Amino acid sequence: MKHKPIRAIFPGSFDPITNGHLDVIGRGVKLFDELIVAVGQNPLKDVLFTPDERVEMIRQLVADKPRVSVQSYDCLTVEFARRVGADVMLRGLRNLTDVQYEFQLAMTNRTVAGIETVFIMTSEEYGYVNSTMVREIALLGGDVSRLIPAPVYDALRRRLESRPSTP
Ligand code: ADP
Repeated sequence: MKHKPIRAIFPGSFDPITNGHLDVIGRGVKLFDELIVAVGQNPLKDVLFTPDERVEMIRQLVADKPRVSVQSYDCLTVEFARRVGADVMLRGLRNLTDVQYEFQLAMTNRTVAGIETVFIMTSEEYGYVNSTMVREIALLGGDVSRLIPAPVYDALRRRLESRPSTP
């Protein structure tokens, strides 16, 4: 029996995209016919790259994956899922804190919008990587080159060099 193509979204802020995110995309796409990386705008998070810059960076990184596309959105994630006709939301899990938070989010999204969430476990080597930490370490002059893809590292360095230093 031929099944209806399954379209999933992988929502996040991706500011910046890390090796952990890329790993989830690489393994996650195998589960679906189509995966849309959905770059959201979180008003509560400090922004390093604009949504357009993030989309552009991610597009380059997934250029070799024909079933992956990238879009930004500024509405509720479930609303974006509805607009693009996605059946599933893909999320990554790193630790028990993620499980607790994601469980609540997944239940809410299923209740209010009827959308299912599929979780993928992080690879051990990226279990501790998150974008907030990458931003903080980089802002304080630390080396994040092993946590993010090389083109993102270059963009991050350029961004920090052009930033006025805060007193
Ligand atoms: P972060 O939590 O790093 O700020 P996002 O809000 O962009 O990133 O997260 C988007 C999704 O990617 C979430 O489901 C998050 O759990 C997942 N994710 C982020 N980093 C990793 C990682 N290192 N391994 C697995 N999943 C991850």
